[in-house]
Amino acid sequence: MKTPVLSALVEQHGRAPVTDAVRWELDRQRRAIAQGKVEAAAEAEIVASIAVQLERAMTPSLRPVFNLTGTVLHTNLGRAPLPQEALDAIAAVSRGASNLEFDLATGKRGDRDTHLEILLAQLTGAEAATVVNNNAAAVLLTLAAIAPRKEVIVSRGELIEIGGAFRMPDIMTRAGCRLREVGTTNRTHEKDYRDAINARTGALMSVHTSNYAVQGFTASVDEARIASIAHAAGLPFLVDLGAGALVDFGPYGLPHEPTVADTVAAGADIVTFSGDKLLGGPQAGLIAGRRDLIDKIKRNPLKRALRCDKMTIAALECVLRMHLDPGRLASRLPALTLLTRKQGDIAAQAHRLAGAMSALFGASVEVSVEDCVSQIGSGSLPVETLPSAAIVLRQAQRKKSSGAWLNALAKALRELPVPVIGRIERDALILDLRCLTDEQAFCAQLPKLSLEAGAS
Ligand SMILES: *Cc1c(COP(=O)(O)O)cnc(C)c1O
Repeated sequence: MKTPVLSALVEQHGRAPVTDAVRWELDRQRRAIAQGKVEAAAEAEIVASIAVQLERAMTPSLRPVFNLTGTVLHTNLGRAPLPQEALDAIAAVSRGASNLEFDLATGKRGDRDTHLEILLAQLTGAEAATVVNNNAAAVLLTLAAIAPRKEVIVSRGELIEIGGAFRMPDIMTRAGCRLREVGTTNRTHEKDYRDAINARTGALMSVHTSNYAVQGFTASVDEARIASIAHAAGLPFLVDLGAGALVDFGPYGLPHEPTVADTVAAGADIVTFSGDKLLGGPQAGLIAGRRDLIDKIKRNPLKRALRCDKMTIAALECVLRMHLDPGRLASRLPALTLLTRKQGDIAAQAHRLAGAMSALFGASVEVSVEDCVSQIGSGSLPVETLPSAAIVLRQAQRKKSSGAWLNALAKALRELPVPVIGRIERDALILDLRCLTDEQAFCAQLPKLSLEAGAS
């Protein structure tokens, strides 16, 4: 068995995995022969199939893909891409020990939130802040700490569900609060909030309806008004902002999104938001607000269960610091760089690539460059879109519907070493190039596309 090829596999993958693969493959061969399906294979053939099997087993399950879906902050594709500086910060504190919970000034035990709190206060105008694993956790913890066994008043128009089973009414129950719905789906008035307040009320809450828009005959109460109703009754006003922009997006030519600082200024006592949506950082849930309420939140035992790790804190600190200089943010923060890419740039890139793709596919595939629209994603600004450009692939000599053909083509693209994820729409496979930053890597792997399945 000691053929040179097999020893090379041992060198590459280690003895135990190769032994396992050899056993598995020989077993498979024996069974096939016993069932009369095949003749005994040559040794070289067996070793080759072991090599393929090992290669497959050693490929990481979680790995990079090309996001050509047109949705920039795609939850299923990992949301915001991190800047190199944040990756460096993660590596620096992960390689060895760090002062995660150690106060270098006093030599005593410290608090992991201190690395972020001053920056967050500066950026949001809030007195204090803390951070947990994601925004769903931030909402859960806030409710559990601020309004246990109390009623929390929320407008019926804001009882949202966010992808992946985050439903406001369920989170309330899990946090030990009672949801007190007021108003109607399309209209809620100041009086609705006022009339609902009683001795059992623990807080008033507003949830940013980030993944849909209610249009037509609508009315809602702006945050400053809800805040003053809450404060007149001596109650805290909580806002789940979701996307959580820290700077005004207007100057970048993007649709307006309320900032955390706006919300704090409007009178919110606590604001919760995600780290990996418009903030462009790692997955995290940020909680900013009044000092006494943040202290209460930090003392709740759930905080310990929901805390985030040093890698997240390192990346978040880096990304927050970048926000201190909004003038350079679009060139330094990858999420914002992608969101602000000009359609002309994207179209020029599409024209550059279309020729190569056309040559690769041959006559069976119709390749064209077309205008399209990207979405910000993560439920942020759902009705606003960004003009973009795409490479559009269609079956040449189309039959009635090319659904099966398109699915096979999409599958072939997903089977590339760095899978390419597009979207199928109106009888075409659309590759929105807004998020294609590594054009060279994209082109280099195209010849590996296995077209037999789809494009023949
Ligand atoms: C996205 C979002 C959440 C959930 O945040 P995660 O960081 O995904 O846990 C909660 N509330 C609102 C309003 C959101 O937009």
